[in-house]
Amino acid sequence: MRCIYCLSDKSDSAFTKAEHVMPQAFGRFQNNFTLNGVVCDECNQYFGDNLEIYLGRDTVEGISRYEYRIKDRKDFKSIGPKTRLQGMQIAEGVLKGAYIYLEYSQERDEIISLPLPQVGFQNKISLNYKYFLLDGIPERVELENEGFNCDSNVRAFGDSFELIEKALANKKISPEFEKELPLLDKKSEKLLIEYEASVDSVIKRSIAKISFNYLAYLQGADFVLQDIFNPIRFYIRNGELESTPFVIINNESILKDELQNGLARLMHIVTISWAQTGFSLISRVSIFNFLSYTVQLVRHYPNPNPNFVKGHFFNLGDYKIYELTRR
Ligand SMILES: [Zn+2]
Repeated sequence: MRCIYCLSDKSDSAFTKAEHVMPQAFGRFQNNFTLNGVVCDECNQYFGDNLEIYLGRDTVEGISRYEYRIKDRKDFKSIGPKTRLQGMQIAEGVLKGAYIYLEYSQERDEIISLPLPQVGFQNKISLNYKYFLLDGIPERVELENEGFNCDSNVRAFGDSFELIEKALANKKISPEFEKELPLLDKKSEKLLIEYEASVDSVIKRSIAKISFNYLAYLQGADFVLQDIFNPIRFYIRNGELESTPFVIINNESILKDELQNGLARLMHIVTISWAQTGFSLISRVSIFNFLSYTVQLVRHYPNPNPNFVKGHFFNLGDYKIYELTRR
């Protein structure tokens, strides 16, 4: 058996989990579309831990709806992100492992991620950082036994320098800090911007995965195992980029008859069709029927079948999946 994402040949004991075309975080639908024996457990786990963590968690009613403006973003703070979302950790990139929370920014009119008060120690050998919230900093000897540098390159985030210094001093740690800088210094700000860019890419990869899963669901594993799908496959699985973006965000609804007054019907939509040129396979995805994404699954396919057009919507009213019909 061969996994459509990592292309590894594995025994069937490595394919015990069903991969959902639409992540379950977006709803559990009747007769749900799943891939069985097609995505290995390791890839399934990777996607859950690294991609879907941002889309789902238990926050379908939370983050995503705010993110996609189903609800007013200004209400975001009032539902208490501090209790529900505190302690989210960054999954990838230069700030991997750092703790963040989400908050509505009036200035930017969007949900932004901010670091919680914390310190990060660098491992002397791997050079990777491990982060601790202020009430969870281990004893100095413990950190040193694990190979962390307690004296320099310590990263700190928070509003109060004194508080952090005190928390560290309690553990007999007093690293060199540039004290005149606020804790969220220029360097950290740059890291956070990089982090936001990586979250953006994580969301796009998650969207691309919905498209690729859907294609595998419709056409079978052998079809998507073709080498020509390797660029999109490795973009989804490993974040490998190409010069032309795979995923583009659009502002209009996929459905032609959608009302234009903002009262979009609550559903997710996935479609696949050949581009007008006939050589690229294009998918469109909409989550909560708000923003839509165009995903280029393959370019320059040698023998396209221009009649291949499919679409389904995942209705959040009755939790059923319906096929879209062409007019
Ligand atoms: Zn795999």
